Parts: sequence; structure tokens; C-alpha cells
Amino acid sequence: MRLRQAAIVHYHEVSLKRGNRPLFLRHLARNIERATSDAGPVRLRQLSGRIEVDLDRNGAPELVRDRIARVCGVASVALAFRVPSTVEEMKDVIGQLLEGRRFASFRISARRAFKTYPLTSVELNRELGSFVVERTGARVDLHGAELEIHVEVLPAETFVYVNRVAGPGGLPVGASGTVAALLSGGIDSPVAAWRMIKRGCRVVLVHFHSVPYLPDISQAKAKALAERLTEWQYRSRLFLVPFGEIQREIVLSVPGPARVVVYRRMMIRIAEAIARSVGAHALVTGESLGQVASQTLENLARIDEAATMPVFRPLIGTDKLEITGEAQRLGTFEISIEPDADCCTLFTPRHPATRMSHEAVQKVEANLDVPRLVAMGTSGATLATFAFPKEDGTD
Ligand code: ATP
Ligand code: MG
Repeated sequence: MRLRQAAIVHYHEVSLKRGNRPLFLRHLARNIERATSDAGPVRLRQLSGRIEVDLDRNGAPELVRDRIARVCGVASVALAFRVPSTVEEMKDVIGQLLEGRRFASFRISARRAFKTYPLTSVELNRELGSFVVERTGARVDLHGAELEIHVEVLPAETFVYVNRVAGPGGLPVGASGTVAALLSGGIDSPVAAWRMIKRGCRVVLVHFHSVPYLPDISQAKAKALAERLTEWQYRSRLFLVPFGEIQREIVLSVPGPARVVVYRRMMIRIAEAIARSVGAHALVTGESLGQVASQTLENLARIDEAATMPVFRPLIGTDKLEITGEAQRLGTFEISIEPDADCCTLFTPRHPATRMSHEAVQKVEANLDVPRLVAMGTSGATLATFAFPKEDGTD
């Protein structure tokens, strides 16, 4: 008998969204379709509490599974075999699944998605469990089993699978609206942007570079990072803002120790103008409390005062080791550690002020033509777009 395959997708948080559930599920389904759009034909079906991705005519089920395992909102995904919901058929497919596998202990994890099925899940576990014991001599172990055999009984059919891959969890991209993230070439900001993607945001990226005052490395890094992040949100826009001239003007009227905070405030204002133009409702930075001089409570407060939108800092309570681990898992770390001259090291003194007061900032900014500098940044910005999976005509 040819076994019919499907990917079974479980979600958790999405299912908590009561009134919004249909909308969230539509986002999730659409994102699964996008993520697998170059992986052969798939057909999605919403079943109770899960999504079935029919792979009957698909030649690359593993690729489909691996793509789905990176869709935000997905709790887990497994390649499952579909059988009619009789115990005999279940045993038959389990028998085939076990061929060639060696394991000393196992468990059956049966679930019924509808409670009128004649056997309870406990009865199913027993019945199928004794079948496996007879076949293999392996022992049942409910807690540390080497092999877990999942059996999900739905009204129309049953899904049987052994390997379940964990997804990222979170919420489907698009479900939470748009934010604009300030993306440097560093380790932190890509992780911060990703955390917002994982909360269902579409993240527009804004990078400030100092060409022609510094070599053009930071833009290349920002693009490489944007490309990585696009794997999680399918389409990205990256605004590249010329900041060198703005910094030069700041240097002329702002004393050394105050410059870092003033640079950040200018970045925030420009990013906010861009955010507004793309319909974003908040800004995101990679700041983490106390990590560097510009990230003290006082200085963060000064940076916030330059914004009218909320400024989110998903890494505020995260230490560098945790952030680095996350960047490694994301694949952004290798790009971030490429040597680069950060635009903020340009014209920056070695001892920046760590606790700037509101009055001190007002005073040093009094000689700056802020609206003109913001306009300079926004009008000089260029846009790069990214797509994943790659589409014809994009790179
Ligand atoms: P990162 O690792 O993200 O660069 P950092 O630890 O170097 O952060 P800062 O240099 O103080 O910290 O930057 C704080 C935040 O300001 C960054 O996380 C980022 O969101 C934003 N930022 C800094 N420089 C730039 C830049 N050139 N372009 C865009 N955003 C920037
Ligand atoms: Mg940095």
C-alpha cells in the first residue's frame, strides 16, 4: 500500500486568540504557503487545532517540513502518514514506520481531536502499544522513550508520525502590524528585529551609514543581515540612510561627550519619519541596559524623548551571552562579527557622557537645525528590497 503523506502543523499561541483566531490562522496559512512556495505543490487544510499540508503530489516533503519549521507561529511540524481511522490501519502504518528502526523503548501518544471516536486515547495507547511490543520487543517508557509514536485521530482520517520538529513559536508575521527597526551591522539589532518578527510584526529595516566618510562595508553587512531576516518574514524593505554629513554637522556644534546620545536621537527622528511613511507604529532598537555608555537609564530616556512613537527594546533585559547565542542560532552572528567601522565610532570621543540630563541635551541640540538634518537623512535614503524564497528578478 502506498502511504499518503502530509505535514501536520501545530500552533499554540495562535489558538489562544479567541476572537481573532480566524485572522491569525489566515496569516499563518498564508505564511506557510509563502515559505514553501518553491518547494513543490502543497495544499493546506485547516483541521481542528492544526493545519494539514497535503503532500500527495509533492516531491520534497523534507524541504517543506524544514521550511514550515521556521514559520513564526508554528509550535511543531511533522511529516505524517494519513490512514483511515481504524485500529487495523493504524497498526499497519505503524508496522511500516518501524521497519528498519532500532529502539529499546517507546511510547504511543494518541490524541483524539473528536471525542466520539469509539476508543479513548488511553485505550488506543494500550492497543497500539502492545502491537509495537509484540513486533519489536521494545519496552514502553512514558518519560524517556527513545521513540515517540504520535497518533492523531481526526474525524476524516488519522495521522501517524514519529519525528516532530519544533517551530519557533510566537505569532505569524503580519498579525501584529508593522514596526521599523534600527539595524546596525552589530550583533544586537538583528536579534532585536527578529524578536519582533517572532511576535508577528512585519519589520521594516533602517540602516545608517557613513559613506563617503567611511568605507561601504556597513551597507553590505546590513544587506546580508536583511537577507537573513527575510527568511523569517518573506519580504523586507531596508532603508539605507546617509548619516556621515549629519554627523559632521553634529561634530561642529556638539561637545564630544554628548555626541553619541545626539547621534542616536537623530537616528530615532529619521527612523520615525521613515516609519511613518511606511505605516509602522513603533521603533525597535537592539539596546540592552548598561551594555555601553549610550545605554544607561538616563541616556535611554534622552533617546526616547526624541521619539513620539513607542521605542521597543526587546533585548533590554538580555545579556550579551544570551544575545550572542540567539544570533548564532539565527545565522546573523557570522555576518555581524565581520570587521567594520561603525558609523558611531566616527567622530566619537573615547569617554561619552553616561548620564545626560534632559536640559543638557536641549542645550547641546540648540545650535542644530534638527528638521533640516532629518530631511537630509530621509531624502537621501535609498531602498533595497528582499524576498524569500527568492523570486524571479530579485536578488
Ligand atoms: P548593535 O550590536 O545592534 O550594533 P550595540 O551594542 O553596538 O548594538 P549601540 O552602538 O549603542 O549598541 O547601538 C544601539 C542601537 O542603536 C543598535 O542596537 C541599533 O538598533 C541602533 N543603531 C546603532 N547604530 C546604528 C546604525 N548605524 N544604523 C542603524 N541603527 C543603529
Ligand atoms: Mg553597534
